[in-house]
Amino acid sequence: METIQQHIAQVQQKVAQACQRAGRGVQEVTVMAASKTRTVPQIIEAVQAGIGDVGENYVQELLDKKGEVDEAGYTDICWHAIGHLQRNKVRYVVPICTMIHSLDSARLAREINKRAARIDKVQKVLLEINIAGEESKFGIAPEQAAELAEQVTALDHLQLRGLMTMPPYTDNPEDSRPQFQTLRRLADKLISSGLPAEAMSELSMGMSGDYEVAIEEGATIIRLGTALFGPHL
Ligand SMILES: *Cc1c(COP(=O)(O)O)cnc(C)c1O
Repeated sequence: METIQQHIAQVQQKVAQACQRAGRGVQEVTVMAASKTRTVPQIIEAVQAGIGDVGENYVQELLDKKGEVDEAGYTDICWHAIGHLQRNKVRYVVPICTMIHSLDSARLAREINKRAARIDKVQKVLLEINIAGEESKFGIAPEQAAELAEQVTALDHLQLRGLMTMPPYTDNPEDSRPQFQTLRRLADKLISSGLPAEAMSELSMGMSGDYEVAIEEGATIIRLGTALFGPHL
């Protein structure tokens, strides 16, 4: 079986090739490990192989694993919250997260702002966009993005950095391309209607099955589970 280190080397090669096809620099793309259900030793192996960003879906897992990874001495990792976030969990997430990828309501924004203010932090956030309108997925409709972006930028302890999306599951990465294009165009549209470009500088899109396509379409953060850690056992 291949090691996490070998997986990461393969991913880095594919990222470099996708960047080249798109005329982009590799430093424009952050490879984040999506580590839900993976163990602390697996996360540490990924970090030792060069991963600097780790994303967790569930708050309890995030707290537990970050605690253990910190204790093992890996304290300069950027941790990301990438799953649906309940307001009553915000207080645990804000102190330890570099970025929250799943902001999807004004109420959640106000709660994050309140908790960030208490610890004198400015919390980086992305708006989660449900492009395909899937009922099983969280996130706002593209048409709601302008209003939520405006509400977020009015809050002093939030810093809007961009958009995140998760296309419907498919075996064919080309199926995701139109969704990625829609996210990219939405960001461009928000900028042309007055949002500062820095508020739309990140596009968190692309997972194990479609990250190369996502990079071709402008992803700045790709979120990889299986491609780094192997299939779930
Ligand atoms: C699980 C997960 C990923 C990674 O999925 P893979 O297909 O294993 O790469 C990325 N983003 C989110 C939000 C996830 O829940």
